[in-house]
Amino acid sequence: MMDKEEFRKHAHLLVDWMADYMEGKEEYPVTPNVQPGDILNQLPTSAPEEGEDFDRIFGDFKDVILPGMTHWQHPGFFGYFPANNSEPSILAEMLMSTLGAQCMSWLTSPAATELEERVLEWLRDAKGICSTWKGVIHDTASTATLSAILAARERITNYRINQLGFKGDENFRVYSSEHVHSSIDKALRIAGIGQDNLVKIRVDDKYALIPEFLDKAIQEDIANGFTPLCVVSALGTTSSTAIDPINKIGDICQKYNIWHHIDAAFAGAALLLPEFRWMNEGHEKADSYVFNPHKWMFTNFDCSVLFLKDPKYLINTFSLTPEYLRTQLDEQVNNYRDWGIQLGRRFRALKLWFVIRHYGLNGLRKKLRHHLELTNKVLEWIKAHPSLEILAPVPLNTICFRFVNPNVSDEKLNLLNEKWLAEVNQTGLAFFTHTKLDGKFVIRWVIGQTDVEESHIKNAWSLLLEKIPQLEDVPK
Ligand SMILES: *Cc1c(COP(=O)(O)O)cnc(C)c1O
Repeated sequence: MMDKEEFRKHAHLLVDWMADYMEGKEEYPVTPNVQPGDILNQLPTSAPEEGEDFDRIFGDFKDVILPGMTHWQHPGFFGYFPANNSEPSILAEMLMSTLGAQCMSWLTSPAATELEERVLEWLRDAKGICSTWKGVIHDTASTATLSAILAARERITNYRINQLGFKGDENFRVYSSEHVHSSIDKALRIAGIGQDNLVKIRVDDKYALIPEFLDKAIQEDIANGFTPLCVVSALGTTSSTAIDPINKIGDICQKYNIWHHIDAAFAGAALLLPEFRWMNEGHEKADSYVFNPHKWMFTNFDCSVLFLKDPKYLINTFSLTPEYLRTQLDEQVNNYRDWGIQLGRRFRALKLWFVIRHYGLNGLRKKLRHHLELTNKVLEWIKAHPSLEILAPVPLNTICFRFVNPNVSDEKLNLLNEKWLAEVNQTGLAFFTHTKLDGKFVIRWVIGQTDVEESHIKNAWSLLLEKIPQLEDVPK
């Protein structure tokens, strides 16, 4: 057992370590230089029979674990989308784990439920989402989207599939753009709809869904005996942050009475800025809306918010109250266990509350605008470079670019760019990831890490230029 004095001592030590880490995180390589098995082989193959000294455990954290970590909070991390954190969020997590509360229902922690209600109202209003909508916090957008699709499925069948299962003649179809996130494919697998029933609609030259093709696909499906269930549109696709035209998509969904789910997992943060509200025009016609504060809103993983026009479909889909969970207050309160898949729930609202209060909405806006300004700088540099091209519009802070040369085929350019990316990442000084747009390998540069500053983009730019492909590297 760890006595309380010992706990206090170790906790102080850890907090000092945490502050040092945050101050010195740039000294670490963004990605570790390890091979598969390197960490595993340093870990004993069986658990210790006797308890070990805390100093030894912590020592191994530093010696064995840390060298195998990717430093997502390194300001040279420009890959994927960020999973950024911030000081207030980390502090809230410390309190959450100390309370160790399991917040499945109002009664199991009234403050957790009511704080979640209030904080999500703040966020809803700050983002210009309809004031009558309600929110709930899920772990990830994957889970939130699955929940929305299940609610859509149950709404259309009047809760029959929940009770009786599939008859086999449902023939549901779900629609999205070609650039849909893989979590939607996965949701269709899990929801029993089948991945092949995800109809991927063509995109325009900005990689945004073309509504006319959506309408046509729906009409054809209806004529062929399918049942259109849901359209998932993206505010900010994962490849290039393309913005689907949700207003027009909303009209189509209303015309055919289809559930409209908006996936703004990453780009939703930008709605805090009035200048990005145009993206959200028409959202009021939708049914559900997901946004991840754990991406670009400084609230560490995990924290995903699902907003709903009418939560009753979600609640009717998931609520299931065995006697041992019934309370006398159920009519008067929110029991968030009924708003999603899991019964047990973490107290995630606390970190969101800390983050919003610490920064204030203006502080958050300032940070986002700063990242957007840095993005514009990078954009200018890339545009001015004769051997680089930008392959997608940059509505936010994600730039898709590649090395290009008129005398080299796309196929060979793909190899060159892939090699370039690997060489840059290998230095550990910065980290980028890639995607393919129309078959072209492009590097994605996402500028949204909490502490990213001009010096970091400048260093990353120099690094990219230092490693830029040379024509003699072209594979024969
Ligand atoms: C990141 C992302 C997701 C998945 O988010 P998780 O919270 O990791 O499940 C889904 N959709 C889009 C558009 C994303 O950017």
